[in-house]
Amino acid sequence: MKIGLFPGSFNPIHIGHLIIANLAYESTDLDEVWFIVSPQNPFKKNKNLLHEFDRLDMVQAAIHEDFHFKVSDIEFGMPKPSYTIDTLIRLVDKHPENEFSLIIGGDNLSSLPKWKNGETIINDFRLIVYPRPNSKATELTLHPNITLIDAPQLDVSATLIRKLIRSGKSIKYLVPQPAIDLIDARKLFV
Ligand code: ATP
Repeated sequence: MKIGLFPGSFNPIHIGHLIIANLAYESTDLDEVWFIVSPQNPFKKNKNLLHEFDRLDMVQAAIHEDFHFKVSDIEFGMPKPSYTIDTLIRLVDKHPENEFSLIIGGDNLSSLPKWKNGETIINDFRLIVYPRPNSKATELTLHPNITLIDAPQLDVSATLIRKLIRSGKSIKYLVPQPAIDLIDARKLFV
């Protein structure tokens, strides 16, 4: 199967992530999109980062009705912080029958040369790239392993969601309702 990998902190998952995952699926030959919950992003320090199992459960709750979407805890057992190349190698090892692509924003594409083994990633894997504000032009978009997709640029972030929750405002429509129910039940982010 052809699998698109969508890595993130998902602290929490929101409609920005889901719209991209769905358009990556709709715009390419992907059979499934897997949300890879990263215990810790090497470029992010976040004191508000929830426990990885809460973030995994929120993703699961958000996608449970969509059989094209799956959530993976593959990085939970890996050394932290987890680097994308190590995750890719582990996934290929575990599922040699699958063909993996990476779904990333245009902003991340321009910083790919700074990633651990960035060159190996682009040479060995297809990258499905969606538009992001403030993406720097990069000649990497001409690489044969790049597939550019069209998608709306939504100014929604997990930071915004956390702020709304902390100030007692509703996050209705920004996060799928089953994930909101879980946030409420576990009193997350308050
Ligand atoms: P935070 O606000 O805590 O930094 P975030 O909303 O950016 O979090 P992440 O879990 O870090 O969420 O996101 C996973 C991936 O999705 C990242 O590559 C991020 O750039 C991308 N992403 C986040 N928000 C959006 C959005 N609104 N539209 C498209 N991509 C997004």
